[in-house]
Amino acid sequence: MNIIPAKGVSCPLDAWLAQQCGARDLEDLPAKLEAAQIRLLRETLHRASHSVFYGKRLAGCNLNPESLEELQTLPFTLPTDLNPWEDLLAVSAGEVERMVTLKTSGTTGPPKRLAFTAKDLARTRDFFTVGMSMLVQSGEKLAVLLPGSERPDGVADLLRQGLESVGVEVACPPGELVYSPQGWPEDGKALAAWIRVERPKALVAAPAQLALLAACFPNAAPENLNGVLASSDPLNAQLRAFLQIVWGCTVLDHYGLTESCYGGAVECLVQAGAHLRELDVLVEIVEMGGDTVLPPGHVGEVVLTTLCEAMPLIRYRTGDVASLRPGPCGCGSPLKRLGPVLGRLSRKADGTLAIEQPVKGSGQRGADTLFSLYPYKTT
Ligand SMILES: [Zn+2]
Repeated sequence: MNIIPAKGVSCPLDAWLAQQCGARDLEDLPAKLEAAQIRLLRETLHRASHSVFYGKRLAGCNLNPESLEELQTLPFTLPTDLNPWEDLLAVSAGEVERMVTLKTSGTTGPPKRLAFTAKDLARTRDFFTVGMSMLVQSGEKLAVLLPGSERPDGVADLLRQGLESVGVEVACPPGELVYSPQGWPEDGKALAAWIRVERPKALVAAPAQLALLAACFPNAAPENLNGVLASSDPLNAQLRAFLQIVWGCTVLDHYGLTESCYGGAVECLVQAGAHLRELDVLVEIVEMGGDTVLPPGHVGEVVLTTLCEAMPLIRYRTGDVASLRPGPCGCGSPLKRLGPVLGRLSRKADGTLAIEQPVKGSGQRGADTLFSLYPYKTT
């Protein structure tokens, strides 16, 4: 099955999701999508209730919602609820294809662990493939700069699996060019030299890496490059403007967490919010420190319900601060769009909340966060 839509479609997720929920066209998509979401939500709630944690947490809850609004009647899940991880496993251990360990920086607690089935990983692989079709086509080369390219079924490997199946060549630099035990390399010179040789058409990189490369290519983009997908951390406006104006690249931002099996939402070419992969993740924006669900246009905490198999998370409070964009996208897509992440909520031991702002320009926060995400291991 060819999941790459024809060139010229502004948001390729539309065709991908329409195919899955049986929508005939864009007008038909919202109703079909919602019906499929409700069905998947019910299935997910029943599957989650087989886990030790949700067996207790969802006891007495309605597991057969008839509308998406009924999601609001269910309790939240906090990051601290992810320990012990085995208690959230909704499938048998034999069905787990991959485990990811997240070291949580700044805490002494045990690291978070997430499990994925082969189907969870395949869904993410397909989402990546569809999203990247906006930047790279068959016969062209994509360079994935994110650390961890050697890890089976990690982000870089899923990109490679998906894109190579549609004729895109995927190149990853040697690990020592993208990170060291201390964190990011001090400069991007070695990585820049690698890019000059590889001549990719598009890059997938973290903002901190793009900031290093911007210093190496201060006047123009690396030869042949015309697309950049920023992932792992919020992309600040100055860096984005540099890549678009000085490099002349199309720059798309991606939102995803390991908790959502890496993928979540990606911008279309209109660049006015990231379109959600709505059959894999449901997003609510919730009052910070409260439990009221806010309408589009209002800033609050991003709360995810992941419709995955191995470890579905119900109303998971991510700590990310953002809003859903109101109204339809300029590309014509009816899919929900998530605005930029404006900061992160941190919950103190005494229950108070603080908002951490991304560090402007340097990408340093990006480095910290990415390295809290990437030192995982396969079991
Ligand atoms: Zn759009």
